[in-house]
Amino acid sequence: MLDNLTIKMARTGLKNKDFTSLELVTRYFEKIEKYEDLNAYITLNYEKSIDLAKKADEKIAKNIEGSMLGVPIAMKDLFCTDGLRTTAGSRILENFIPPYESTISQNLLNEGSIILGKTNMDEFAMGSSNLTSYFGPVWLPFRKKSDTDIKLVPGGSSGGSAAAVAADIAVAATGSDTGGSVRQPAAFSGLVGIKPTYGLCSRYGMIAFASSLDQAGPITKTVEDAAIMLNAMAGYDKKDSTSIKVEIPNYLDYVGKSIKGMKIGVAKQYTEGLSDVNIAILEQVKKWLLDAGCEIIDINLETAPYALPSYYIIAPAEASSNLGRYDGVRYGYRANAPKNIDDLYVRSRTEGFGEEVKRRILTGTYVLSSGYYDAYYNRALKIREMIKKDFKDNAFAKVDLVLTMTTPNTAFGIDDPATNDPVTMYLNDIFTVTANIIGSPAISVPVGLSGNDKLPLGVQLIGNHFCEKSIFSVASVIEKSANFAELKKEMSYVSKP
Ligand code: GLN
Repeated sequence: MLDNLTIKMARTGLKNKDFTSLELVTRYFEKIEKYEDLNAYITLNYEKSIDLAKKADEKIAKNIEGSMLGVPIAMKDLFCTDGLRTTAGSRILENFIPPYESTISQNLLNEGSIILGKTNMDEFAMGSSNLTSYFGPVWLPFRKKSDTDIKLVPGGSSGGSAAAVAADIAVAATGSDTGGSVRQPAAFSGLVGIKPTYGLCSRYGMIAFASSLDQAGPITKTVEDAAIMLNAMAGYDKKDSTSIKVEIPNYLDYVGKSIKGMKIGVAKQYTEGLSDVNIAILEQVKKWLLDAGCEIIDINLETAPYALPSYYIIAPAEASSNLGRYDGVRYGYRANAPKNIDDLYVRSRTEGFGEEVKRRILTGTYVLSSGYYDAYYNRALKIREMIKKDFKDNAFAKVDLVLTMTTPNTAFGIDDPATNDPVTMYLNDIFTVTANIIGSPAISVPVGLSGNDKLPLGVQLIGNHFCEKSIFSVASVIEKSANFAELKKEMSYVSKP
């Protein structure tokens, strides 16, 4: 009764007094211990969670409402949590205890969520595998059916969050998405992940990677849960100057709504070169959508192939500027016995940052340097505008949503040759980065399993700004048709609790 719960099921069980929040939280900590080798959490929040669970039970007894009241969730270690260590997966913040709460975690606490702990992630959210974390890799709770010896990564950068939800050591989790870090791990893990419109979720207290692209989003077991959690997370925040003042609808109202007459676009730029399995999946999804009364329209997005290269200029450029604040002086890791001030900066940063972070800082500094600014950074910004216009004129003027695969491949092992080559790793984001470049909302929904490996595959829906409503409606139809909960039974789980 206490396992495999969605947010919705947990709330119903708590309200009906089938179990208490204290029982639920205790059970989740028991499972967290059993699944310790997945390395999904960096820091646990045991005492506070027990305390909050007791308080939630008192509120429930008094019939006090809260959309997440008493529900145990996990928080990506990128969100500052007051008094609870927040590392961003980096040595440079290994001992950082924030004196304030991020707006996202605060909003979730306000709705009664219980934050079990902080989840592992790629260092400063840079990665697609969770292999760049200072705290070590994260593993999925399942393996390839064809080879159960190989441990698989959950994708990244929100890999700890995805593995935690997939292993049911959190009911749901937060992620952050700069180029796909909510959607790609969700797809690898057989979960739902949505990156909302830029500005919908406050970035206050979310450790910055690339500020014009970063957005928080939920990673959940169902589309309905994603709607419940986004309801709690979204909203204007005066502490974030890029937060947008719009009325937030109740996204739950759009889950399960008829999608008859909606137009779904498929662009050849997103289907060329796909594997047979992926082509078959997309055809299947198109058929479900046709059956639900949608129209499928071929569209042409000529600028789509430029999204990834422009992302890998813009994101490192912004990162190099954002990460300038970690200097060993104000806070964070400081090198021992420096010879002078230069030595302090150099060694603190050399020892504090990992390889991928250094690669991004170097790339970013290079493309922003006076000699190359126009050739790289400025050009990437122009391309960004072209992509925005292309999507406006050739996608959203004609269709409600664009359908693509979420990732070109399924979850891989640590020894996969792809993991040794940064550029191959960057290709993981080929379908996801566009939504960040244009500021659009996009969701990943699990729809099927790959051939003999039986690993999850996800499709993505991208919408115009503030079209989360249509995204939830179409995603829920796809979810229902796919019946992934049933497909999951064919997967090879590492059995534990
Ligand atoms: N994988 C992408 C990168 O490494 C996206 C990361 C993210 O969305 N945080 O930049």
